Amino acid sequence: MQASLPEAEMLPVSCGACGNRMALFFRARDYNRGVSQREFCYGRCLGCGLISLVNIPDDLERYYSPGYYLLPASERVIEQSLRHEQYKIELVRRFAKTGRLLEIGPSWGAFCLLAKRAGFSVEAIEMDRECCGFLTSKLGIKAIHSADEVASLAEVSPPDVIAMWHVIEHLRDPWPLLERATERLVPGGIMVVATPNPAAFQFGIIGRFWTHVDAPRHVHLIPIELMRAKLRALGLEELLLTTRDAGSLGWNAFGWAFSLANLTEIRMLKRVLRLIGRVTALLFSPIERREGAGSAYTAIFRKPVASR
Ligand SMILES: [Zn+2]
Repeated sequence: MQASLPEAEMLPVSCGACGNRMALFFRARDYNRGVSQREFCYGRCLGCGLISLVNIPDDLERYYSPGYYLLPASERVIEQSLRHEQYKIELVRRFAKTGRLLEIGPSWGAFCLLAKRAGFSVEAIEMDRECCGFLTSKLGIKAIHSADEVASLAEVSPPDVIAMWHVIEHLRDPWPLLERATERLVPGGIMVVATPNPAAFQFGIIGRFWTHVDAPRHVHLIPIELMRAKLRALGLEELLLTTRDAGSLGWNAFGWAFSLANLTEIRMLKRVLRLIGRVTALLFSPIERREGAGSAYTAIFRKPVASR
């Protein structure tokens, strides 16, 4: 049990979610992109199970460039991307048909464009300058360029939908954002949060090489139960919380391909391992399709119409 870990493995930091002590969980490098050879240390909270990067680099922004945000080079690439993200708008439209939609961290805006085409009035908050330019000039979507999402929420009209697709794990302190976003939502509005699942079957097998560790860009891996507790504590009502939605299932196959490739630095071998990963994904699919075992989860919560 973690409670009996030797003192040497306890970390001199407390959990950002619940204040409990953190134990060393694993060490990793930037296996996904190899921006540096630095070692990153992740701790796990003995209370709520939150997994957090302990030594966040001062130059974290450096790990997002170059090439982290690939702007689509043609209309054809845009339409291809939209097909891959179609599941997102279908999911949102199960719970909200129209109104104002805010996406936080849209990259160049595939989902924003789908939402716009579906009839939503769309705004975005994005930290990458070039992506903001693309959103505004090419897609006609109002985008606030900011790395301070919490402060920027004051600048947007109160949304009916706030969407954060695989964004929250990148934030140094995600809890104030959830809190402020909840305040800004109109009563009856919905919040969509998708993020990696630290209880994933894949993570248990592959450990630090798991592509969703994505050191050091992923600062936190948030357990499903912690997400549920945090959103409920904000007064939100659960509509959906699952590892089995189309998006999360898609991350399973991606995860095997890219995690196995992380086992080597030899480019040719990476290619072979990616192919093996695709077969592995098929083999483990029956396990990973079980609720709770998938690589990612999507949470959709509603702000009650009558405040408590
Ligand atoms: Zn905790």
